[in-house]
This record gives sequence, structure tokens and C-alpha cells, in this order.
Amino acid sequence: MDKIIVKCPGKINLSLDVVGIREDGYHLLKTIMQNISLFDEVKIKKTEGDINLYCNNGNVPCNSSNTAYKAASILIDKFHLKAGVDIVIEKRIPVAAGLAGGSADAAGVIIGMNELFELGMSDEDMMRIGVRIGADVPFCIIGSTALAEGIGEVLTPLCSLEDMWCVLAKPDIAISTMEVYAKLKIDEIPKHPNTLKLKEYIEKKEIKNMAQNMVNVLENVTIKENPVIFNIKNIMMEFQALGSLMSGSGPTVFGVFEDKISAEGCYNRLRDYLKEVFLVKTYNRRV
Ligand code: ATP
Repeated sequence: MDKIIVKCPGKINLSLDVVGIREDGYHLLKTIMQNISLFDEVKIKKTEGDINLYCNNGNVPCNSSNTAYKAASILIDKFHLKAGVDIVIEKRIPVAAGLAGGSADAAGVIIGMNELFELGMSDEDMMRIGVRIGADVPFCIIGSTALAEGIGEVLTPLCSLEDMWCVLAKPDIAISTMEVYAKLKIDEIPKHPNTLKLKEYIEKKEIKNMAQNMVNVLENVTIKENPVIFNIKNIMMEFQALGSLMSGSGPTVFGVFEDKISAEGCYNRLRDYLKEVFLVKTYNRRV
């Protein structure tokens, strides 16, 4: 085998809580992450050269700052591989959207190269490498539904949410994750998610209760400067979403729907005024 194609799913945060700050300034999180059926595709081919990277999205750097490049470089060094790789990323996950597109690509390269070069790494081995690239990469390696703690790297897999219909809408604004965290005043967070309760709803498949209790503590920070996020949430609720929330530090907003028909109604309405709208389902790598 000299090439492999890996599907790299994005994620949404069904809840996101900030519970403290580490000595080095990183925020300590408690967040429930869920893979969605919106994928980048990563093609990896063994070569005799170096690492070459191509991407169909001009906003993504094709050099050593690309997460996929970093993953390949770490593996080539660690396993003293004599080969290089050509990596082609077909981007479908919007960039800088709060959907972990870059982390998904890095995880895809680690999973793909593990197979292609028969490296024999376990999930834990791959997660240890992934965290060197970004805090969301370990989640992207195990995927499905998981509670992430620490800076996002301490993972507890949860019972998977099957075939839950969601609409994603990304307004055309740029958000800096670092700025959002810098502006968050931890002592003044108006409402924290009840993560324990949410876990329970997920275990019992009580989707309506889960959706009605989703909270992201970063939402107020981002909405303050970008009221469009609030407007999108309102539209989703008008279109019978069971719940609607900003993902990560934004700006993508998602809504959870009872069925495909109600999700489609909302999707069609939002497409009238936003370019990046997606109709997706929850995705479970482990099934
Ligand atoms: P998260 O949800 O993990 O915070 P995000 O969805 O907000 O991530 P990404 O799409 O991962 O953000 O992109 C963040 C930045 O990383 C981009 O502005 C881009 O320049 C850079 N980047 C590097 N590699 C990639 C990649 N493979 N795909 C997308 N962006 C990348």
C-alpha cells in the first residue's frame, strides 16, 4: 500500500465550560464534544522526497505551520522514516470556525500514516502525539462523543448520539480564539453548563433535554461583539430547533433538530442569507 484516504470529521461542542486557568495561562475546560458528518478528506501518498502539502482552500497555509504537515513531520522524526509524504487536503470544514478543522486534519494524518507505514500505534499513542499539535487533536483521534477536560486532552468517551440532525451556520466574520479566551472573565460567567446532567441526558438518549440545556460560556463574549450569532440562534429556535449553541469560540452556530424535515426547513431559510450553512448528522467513528 502506498497511499491512503482518510475522512476527517469536524466537531461541535454540546457544552463548553471554563473551570480555571493553568499556571502557564491555558484555560481549563470541561466540554462535551461531538463529531459531525462534515468531513475534510486527507490523501496521503508515500514518496521518496520530503513533505509536500496541497489544499483546495487558499486560506489554509500549505507550509510547516499546517497542522497536517506538523503531524507528518513528528511521525517521520519519531519513527526515523526514510520516506516522505504527499498530503492533499480537500477542505470542506470551514476554516477558523470553531469546528476543529485543523485538528481533524492532523488526526487524519496520524491515523493514516499509522496504517500506511504500519507504525503499530494504539489510540493512546496517537493521542499523545496529537496533543503536541493541538488540544483538540486527541478528541479527533477517538472521535464520536466525549467529555474533554484539562486543556481538552483528558478524554472520557461517552455513549454515542446516533443520527441526530443538526444545522450549522457560519457567519462571515473572523474570530480569534485567543482573544475570546482573553476577554472571558471567569468570575463573571453568568451561567455554567450542568455537565453532569448533560452527560446523563446523553446516556439516556434524552435529546430534547440535552438540547435545551446546552451552554457555552464563550458565547456571551463572542455575541457581545458579533450580534449576528444571536440572530442565527433566534432563527434556529423559530424553526423549531430543540436547542441552539455556538460551537467552540465561534463563530459557527449549530441547532439540534427532532428530525430531518425540521432541520431542512431551517437549513433552507439560513441559506437565503448565509454562504456557509450545512445540514449534518452526528457522526460516530466507533460504530
Ligand atoms: P478549533 O475549533 O480547534 O478552535 P477552528 O475550527 O476554530 O479550530 P481551524 O479551522 O482549525 O480553526 O483553523 C485555525 C487556523 O489554523 C486557521 O486560521 C489556519 O490558518 C490554521 N491552519 C493550519 N492548518 C490548518 C488546517 N489543516 N486546516 C485549517 N486551518 C489550518
